[in-house]
This record gives sequence, C-alpha cells and structure tokens, in this order.
Amino acid sequence: MEDIVFASANRNKLAEVRKILGPDFNVMLPSDLGFTGNIPETHETVRENSEQKARFIWDLFHKPCFSDDTGLEVDALGGAPGVYSARYAGEPSNPARNIEKLLRELEGVPLGKRTARFRCVVSYIENGELTRFEGICEGHINFAPVAGGGFGYDPVFVAEGYDCTLAELTMEEKNRISHRGKAMDLLACHLSRNQGR
Ligand code: IMP
Repeated sequence: MEDIVFASANRNKLAEVRKILGPDFNVMLPSDLGFTGNIPETHETVRENSEQKARFIWDLFHKPCFSDDTGLEVDALGGAPGVYSARYAGEPSNPARNIEKLLRELEGVPLGKRTARFRCVVSYIENGELTRFEGICEGHINFAPVAGGGFGYDPVFVAEGYDCTLAELTMEEKNRISHRGKAMDLLACHLSRNQGR
C-alpha cells in the first residue's frame, strides 16, 4: 500500500477518492499527519486553487499528494458561482444556504436554460513535480432539492442523461459520471503507469 496525502479536510470527498484509488493506496488527510489548519485557496480560478492546495501540502510534508478543487458553473448566471461555489451564500460555507441562494437566483428560469456543469481540477505532486487532471460533469439545476447521499450541491444537480439528482445516486454511480470521478480516474491511470516503472 502506498501513502498518498489528499490536500483536503472534506470527508465526503475523501470517501469518494478512496473508492476510486482502491486498496493499493493509503489515502491520508493532512490532519492524519498533524496539520489541522486551513489549506489556503486564495486564487480566482479552480485550476490555480487546486495547484495552490497541492503545493501547500507538498511543501509541508514532501510526500506524494493531490488536491481537488471544484466549481459549479451555471450558464444562466454567467458561470457563477464558479470558483466561489463554497461560499456562495457567504461565510462560513453552508451547503443548505448555498442551495437556497442558487434556487432563488434561478427563480423563473425554465428547464432548458438551467444548464450547468461541475468542473474539477485534481493536482498531483510527486518529487516536486505537479500534474493536473480535469473532469467535467454536464447537467442542469433542478427546481427543488432532492436529497439522499452526496454533499454540497448534489441535491440540486441532475447529470446529463439522468432524471434524478446526484444525491440520489450511490457513491459508485456518482463516481462513474462525476467531475471528480473523471479527474480521479485520470490520476489513477497516471499512478498505475508510474507504479509499473
Ligand atoms: P471545494 O472544491 O471544496 O472548494 O468545493 C466548492 C464547492 O462545491 C463547495 O460548496 C462544495 O460543497 C461543492 N462541491 C464540491 N464537489 C462537489 C460535488 O461532488 N457535488 C456537489 N457539490 C460539490
């Protein structure tokens, strides 16, 4: 089993990425290594925040590590909330209030104009060298939340070709089609190629 640090404090994301990387990897959080502070994400793009989080954790531990940064882009809102998705309804980040605000902003917008996508950038660092992987999940914003599992905006996001929200899928089903699932699959391929060297 190889150690790999996930530059995150999000246990929902952790469960998803563990499932994708499988039993060959011991995915640890910074808190498992004694770091309990905030990982900075101060940039204006998902890509830069993703890189910043991975660099920060690499500089602390010099262990193979990866980060995930995700934004929800809603076409009718000009791409908002985008990089500001976590704090859309203000600080501190609150998923229920974020969803409320999103549905308020989309009041009166018909189904065909509610198109949206999750964009996820995973940054991986080994030996100081950074590689990026991107995953996109296209879909639309539902008229009302339908909860179940998942987290964040999952209760209002319906992936293309589905008629239920991401929250209604099992973690395996979500991983197969989600932004994070796609970016992490690319990382998993990269890691298995490197393992073979
Ligand atoms: P961050 O990548 O942790 O900065 O997340 C940005 C925002 O997107 C937060 O509000 C998260 O809850 C939300 N988010 C991230 N990934 C997902 C997902 O897979 N489903 C739903 N919401 C997500």
